[in-house]
Amino acid sequence: MKARYLIRIDDACHTMDRTKWQLMEDILDEFNIKPIVSVIPESRDPGFMLDEPDEGFWNKVRAWQSKGWTIALHGYTHQLHETESPMILPYYKRTEFAGLPYEKQAAKIRASWNIFNEHRVTPKIWVAPAHTFDKITLHAIRNETDIKFISDGIALDVYYEYDFYWIPQQLWNLTERFSGLWTVCLHPNSMSNEEMQTFRQLVRNKFSERIISFSDVTFNKTPKTILSRLFHMHVWLQRKKIRYALSIFNNCKK
Ligand SMILES: [Zn+2]
Repeated sequence: MKARYLIRIDDACHTMDRTKWQLMEDILDEFNIKPIVSVIPESRDPGFMLDEPDEGFWNKVRAWQSKGWTIALHGYTHQLHETESPMILPYYKRTEFAGLPYEKQAAKIRASWNIFNEHRVTPKIWVAPAHTFDKITLHAIRNETDIKFISDGIALDVYYEYDFYWIPQQLWNLTERFSGLWTVCLHPNSMSNEEMQTFRQLVRNKFSERIISFSDVTFNKTPKTILSRLFHMHVWLQRKKIRYALSIFNNCKK
């Protein structure tokens, strides 16, 4: 089967850059794309204080939900702390969740889930801030929410692990792939107008027929295939090599 793509847009919050988000929404609407949108219910991340607090933010989230966008619970406050703690996907050494005791993680997840509920929004997917979380986080999500899906992980298609369905997220730009399911993660708050227009052109010229929505994905309880495991190993090895090369380069500069 030809490659299929999901679009995920991250870091929607009441102080997001509304002009950029509207531009992204217009592009997605133009091609009838229904993305996964990661919502921070109580953002206190200074990096996202980009506009005056929007009184109508939750109306907007409900409107997204009504038009078929899939809402993801993107942490609670998105305030990240440094950590050396082991994580399921150790992309970064900063996290809102990993390494915290169960009660603290559960309290955050509960508070986040309650805010969504108060505003009549039902998140279907977990998206960890900075990709960083641990098995305790998953335990808290199982106990505190109805969420069954995670958007993250390196694989070639959906898989089942730790009692969750995983939708892999492997790309940060629309990129040609031969087969499999690829989630492209975009951050409208930090995209330039030029990057927005490049995305639009790529959708229009090459990808629009292959972009699907969450409701088009079929899930079953199969673990990662051997091919997906090999791909996962390959990606993490490449990442380690790049990190090692960068550390040598940075040391040489000193
Ligand atoms: Zn984020």
